[in-house]
Amino acid sequence: MRMTTQNDCQSCGMPLKNDPKGGGTYSDGAKSHSYCSYCYADGRFTHPDMTVDQMKILSAAKLRDQGYPLFVARLLVRNLHKLERWNAGASRPLASGARAK
Ligand SMILES: [Zn+2]
Repeated sequence: MRMTTQNDCQSCGMPLKNDPKGGGTYSDGAKSHSYCSYCYADGRFTHPDMTVDQMKILSAAKLRDQGYPLFVARLLVRNLHKLERWNAGASRPLASGARAK
């Protein structure tokens, strides 16, 4: 059973509808429906070395900027580690490896 919502960025958890660009981009320019433009651009993660804990801090700060109270921001980032990017099991993002078969 999948709990992920495809309408949220699978890296930072931001709803893609809040993304001014409507989602990240693959290297061929196609839109990603899994990642936002802040996390994913031109077929790669914008912060490839970021850990999930760093992402939680960054996302909470971003939410605070958007006017969310601190406790809400904390609540929203609490489950970030369950998102696809952090669940791949490996340090390599699955974005490019998915077509390897
Ligand atoms: Zn994102």
